[in-house]
Amino acid sequence: MECISDLHLQPAHPATFEAWRRYMADSPADALFLLGDLFEAWVGDDVIAAGGFEAECAEVLRATAQRVPVFFMVGNRDFLVGERLAQATGMTLLSDPAVLCFGERRWLLSHGDALCIGDTEYQAFRAQVRGAEWQQGFLAQPLSVRQAVARGLREESEALKQTDRIYSDVDTATAVQWLQAADAEVLVHGHTHKPAEHALDARHRRIVLTDWDAEAVPPRLEALRIAREGTVQRIGLA
Ligand code: MN
Repeated sequence: MECISDLHLQPAHPATFEAWRRYMADSPADALFLLGDLFEAWVGDDVIAAGGFEAECAEVLRATAQRVPVFFMVGNRDFLVGERLAQATGMTLLSDPAVLCFGERRWLLSHGDALCIGDTEYQAFRAQVRGAEWQQGFLAQPLSVRQAVARGLREESEALKQTDRIYSDVDTATAVQWLQAADAEVLVHGHTHKPAEHALDARHRRIVLTDWDAEAVPPRLEALRIAREGTVQRIGLA
């Protein structure tokens, strides 16, 4: 099986989309886990009916899911991906976190944003936008209004990135609690864009996925391959 996350697919970055399209067509993995922020923005599953970039992405997902099981977990950017897209493409939505029993082990999979508890402002925003009431209200608005809101949020977040704001990282105590509750030793997550492997204590560790950017030098294009025997390998796709 292979995991990827944080591709932040968007029309403005066609090379990253192309790399992803190739990966989805060619990956030898027997299952693909998309662990959040596949899309830079997602304003509702009805967007695919409008054609365009999102419809192209949905077509890649559909073609891939015919060949190999595809599992999708939402991130903080694409949290409005829902059952309708899952049904249209044949992929399976995962809750966050999700326990994967594979080989002799239990793996805990997460996007990772819920573990960055130091960012209290974001956690309050997250609690609001993950609620059914907010989502119903938002999705009831016309597509063009939702797209304008998403653009506004992106500009806000780009402006924040220009400041020397320090983003909080995954909280170790919370990660260990999650692992203990899941009876798992290894957490695999994305979100922080800081690919690494961290020992959390004598028994638990977390493996962080890279984000994707085909235009970076060198390009960041990588999947994490987990073998049935429990070995973990980063697969460079550049
Ligand atoms: Mn994220």
